[in-house]
Amino acid sequence: MEKIYDLHCHSTASDGVLTPTEVVQRAYAQGVNVLALTDHDSVSGLDEAKIAADKCGIDLISGVEISTQWENRGIHIVGLGFDKTHPKMTALLQQQADLRHKRALEIGDKLAKVGVENAFAGAQALANGEVTRAHYARYLVQIGKVSNDNQAFKKYLSQGKSCYVKTEWCDIPTAIDVIHQAGGVAVLAHPLRYDMTAKKIRQLIADFASWGGDALEVSGCGQTPDQRKQLANWAKEQGLAGSVGSDFHFPCCWVELGKSLYLPTEIEPVWNLF
Ligand code: AMP
Ligand code: MN
Ligand code: MN
Ligand code: MN
Repeated sequence: MEKIYDLHCHSTASDGVLTPTEVVQRAYAQGVNVLALTDHDSVSGLDEAKIAADKCGIDLISGVEISTQWENRGIHIVGLGFDKTHPKMTALLQQQADLRHKRALEIGDKLAKVGVENAFAGAQALANGEVTRAHYARYLVQIGKVSNDNQAFKKYLSQGKSCYVKTEWCDIPTAIDVIHQAGGVAVLAHPLRYDMTAKKIRQLIADFASWGGDALEVSGCGQTPDQRKQLANWAKEQGLAGSVGSDFHFPCCWVELGKSLYLPTEIEPVWNLF
């Protein structure tokens, strides 16, 4: 039987709601055979996930989702199958964590200016690792400022909104280089989620390929067959392999670990590369 892969998901090591153990157990219950836990700029959940994966017989691939900037936009690069103790990777993730910490404090200051006091402490209480915008969104829901996470982004946290803080994340070539040096493969994450025109996305994919990127996330949750076909065509056009990932963050009815993730047959699977 075909194996089920899910190579993009989150735990409490970043902005997911389940612990690494709970993520692995849920993946197992959903029939996933090969899982990569890809927390934002962090590998701190991987040891715990590995213990849980060994217990239930899931194949765990090391993973991370690195925040980068490209033409003034935030772009996410997933690293898979690398040595998580490689000094270059450790140094990059420490630098990203420092940026996150500084940014989180600045977001707290901006929220205070619009009348939300002590938001950093509130968001931090919801976080296990670095405070992300998702933690701020959950805190704003908790105190009743907004009714859901999406509203928190729309009103306060998205680019251009009152409490947005621009961050000097590393660039894409740096992320690719560090992933490669640590022995992994670099995947351009969720290409259709950047609020860009098709022309711009193709330009991003071409840049990513020209900088040595390995694969494009072709299959995700909640996409249409046409979207998947489009992504597969763009991957082929640039000679990129294809990856699959739910980007699961918490149990909900529209995103599930391992759910309807598959690659068109003409696309080389990213797992052939590690
Ligand atoms: P950060 O990495 O700190 O900038 O936080 C970004 C994270 O916030 C993403 O990885 C998503 O999990 C979450 N996020 C971004 N936009 C939205 C949105 N509109 N609604 C809910 N969550 C979002
Ligand atoms: Mn996230
Ligand atoms: Mn992402
Ligand atoms: Mn993600």
